Amino acid sequence: MESQKPMFQVENFDDEFVQKLVYDALVWCSLHGLVVGDKTYQKSGTVPGVGMTHAPISLLPTPFPESYWKQACEVAPIFNELVDRVSLDAQFIQDSLSRTKKADIFTSRLLDIHSKMLESNKKEDIRLGLHRSDYMLDEETKSLLQIEMNTISCSFPGFGRLVTELHQSLLRSHGDHLGLDSERVPKNTSNSQFADAMAKAWLEYNNPRAVVMIVVQPDERNMYDQHWLSSVLREKYPLYALKSLAEVETEGSVQDDGTLIVDGQEVSVVYYRSGYTPRDYPSESEWNARLLIEQSSAVKCPSIAYHLAGTKKIQQELAKPGVLERFMDNKDDVAKLRKCFAGLWSLDDPEIIKKAIEKPELFVMKPQREGGGNNIYGDDVRENLLRLQKEGEEENAAYILMQRIFPKVSNVFLVREGVYHKDQAISELGIYGAYLRNKERVIINEQSGYLMRTKVSSSDEGGVAAGFAVLDSIYLN
Ligand code: ADP
Ligand code: MG
Ligand code: MG
Repeated sequence: MESQKPMFQVENFDDEFVQKLVYDALVWCSLHGLVVGDKTYQKSGTVPGVGMTHAPISLLPTPFPESYWKQACEVAPIFNELVDRVSLDAQFIQDSLSRTKKADIFTSRLLDIHSKMLESNKKEDIRLGLHRSDYMLDEETKSLLQIEMNTISCSFPGFGRLVTELHQSLLRSHGDHLGLDSERVPKNTSNSQFADAMAKAWLEYNNPRAVVMIVVQPDERNMYDQHWLSSVLREKYPLYALKSLAEVETEGSVQDDGTLIVDGQEVSVVYYRSGYTPRDYPSESEWNARLLIEQSSAVKCPSIAYHLAGTKKIQQELAKPGVLERFMDNKDDVAKLRKCFAGLWSLDDPEIIKKAIEKPELFVMKPQREGGGNNIYGDDVRENLLRLQKEGEEENAAYILMQRIFPKVSNVFLVREGVYHKDQAISELGIYGAYLRNKERVIINEQSGYLMRTKVSSSDEGGVAAGFAVLDSIYLN
C-alpha cells in the first residue's frame, strides 16, 4: 500500500534536514562521477579530471503517475520503428523539408548530404538508433504529450542511470524520514543499454579489429556523461576512439570498398555527440568530415536519414492526418503514437497564425535546431509572426508552431554549485530508446531507460547543458 502514503511536502522540511540531504547528495555525486566540467576552469572542457563540479540535480525524485510512465515506455519501441521507416522514405524526407531547405541553411546542408547519398544509391543495411523521446504531462488535458523526438546526440544516457541511483541511495538512507520508498524510483539502465546497442552494432559490422568512434565536440564540459558510456562500452568491447569532426577530416579516408579509416584504424560504428548544431560546423572541414563518414560503410548513429527524421519539421508533418498510416500498418500502434501528439502546425496555415498572434502564450515557435535555447515564446511569438508576414512566404518555412504544454507546477529542491534552492518547477520526462537492425532482422528495439529534467516554472527553455534545467528521476505514484 506504499503508493497510498501521502506524498512528501517539501514545505514541511526544515533547512537543517535539507542541508544534510544536500551534503549526502553531493558526496554521492563526487564519489560516483555525476560531475560536469566547471566553467570557471578554462581547461575543464578539454582535460578530464580538471575543474569538476557536481551535475545540476534535483535533490529528490519528482512524483510522476505510474500510468503515464507505462504509456511513455510502451510507445518507445513504436517510435523507434517509426524513425526507421521514415528514414527509408527518402522522398518523404526531401518533400517535407523542401520549403525548409530554402529558409534554413543548416537543414539545407544536411539535405545536401542526404541527396548525395540518394544519387549514389547508398543503402544503410545496419541501422543503429539511440533516441530520446521527450514528454510533458499536460495538466489541463491530463495527457502525456511529446515535446520532441531526438535522433542525434541524445544527452545524458550516462547520467540518467546515475541520477536514478543517487535518488535511490538517498531514499534508502532517509526514506523513513521522508515517507518515501526507494523501490518506487524505477530502475534505470540507460547507460548499459546504449553501450550494449553500440557493442551489438559492432558485432554486426563483424570486424574484431575495428573501433567504435565517438565524434565529440572539441570543448565539452559534459564529457563525463560520454565517458560513462564509453567506459561501459569498453567492458563489452575494448576498442574505441574519441575524435572531433575536424580530426576526422584530417585523419580520415574512405577506401574503395567503403571502409572508413581514421588515424590508421578501421571504424565500425560512428556515434555522434556532436554534429547536431551549426556551431559544430565552424568551417567546411567539419562538413567534409560528416560527408566522408556518411559515404563510408561504417554504422552511423545516426545516419543522415535518421538525423533528418528527428527534425521538428518532420515531427510536424507526421502529426498531419493520415501521415502516420503511410509508415505504420498496425492501427493500435498508430493510435498510441497519435495520442502523444500535441498540436503542430506549419506557418503556411493562416488560421493558426491568426490565433497565435492573438494568443501567443498558447504556442511555441520552433526553428530546426537542437540543444536547447532556440525556441520562441510569449510575446516574441507574436512579434516574429508579424515580422514574417511582412517579409513574405519563404522565411516562415524555417519554423513550426507547436501547442504550448502546461505541466503541473510543484515545489522542488534544485541543487546547483553546491547550493540548494526551493522553487516552483515543471518537469519533462525523456525516454531513451535503442534500435538496431541489419536488413530485415531487428536485433534490438526497446525502451532503454529514462531521464527526468526539471526546471523552474518561470523558464521557458529546458536544456540541462544549456543551463536551464537540472537532472532528475521519477517517483511513481
Ligand atoms: P531542443 O531540440 O532544442 O531540445 P525542444 O523542442 O526540446 O528543442 O525545446 C526545448 C525546450 O523548450 C524543452 O525542453 C521544453 O522545456 C520547452 N518546450 C518545447 N516545446 C514545448 C511545448 N510545446 N510546450 C512547453 N514547453 C516546450
Ligand atoms: Mg532536441
Ligand atoms: Mg529537447
